[in-house]
Amino acid sequence: MKEYNNTNIFAKIIRGEIPCNKVYEDKEALCFYDINPQAKIHVLLIPKGEYVSYDDFVDKADDKTIVSFFNKINLIIKKLKLETSGFRIISNTGINANQEVPHFHIHILGGENLGGINSK
Ligand code: AMP
Repeated sequence: MKEYNNTNIFAKIIRGEIPCNKVYEDKEALCFYDINPQAKIHVLLIPKGEYVSYDDFVDKADDKTIVSFFNKINLIIKKLKLETSGFRIISNTGINANQEVPHFHIHILGGENLGGINSK
């Protein structure tokens, strides 16, 4: 079982201790622009619950929460008008993926041609 540490930067954003450039928020999730964008459009979608990573989220969250979160990815894609031009979703997990922030998040990138899978 992964242990969550609530001193990470996304936990601080959720608590309102650090500002973010918000795209969307409801009681379960928050979406904001990445501070170091790797594409013309680069946002992060996070659940407000305490999950370290993708696998931790799927292990611990109930089915309703998981389905609702994945539906929210689609909502953001539509909100940012990426459904026709295309997009990439990424969730870095653990050491080999160089996960920087230990709070589960999905990167959504688009707005330009993203190149091959290793180029962004
Ligand atoms: P990862 O390597 O998947 O953990 O990515 C963490 C992402 O969070 C990186 O793309 C960072 O640029 C981004 N990031 C870190 N701090 C902030 C912040 N305060 N606001 C927005 N994005 C951030």
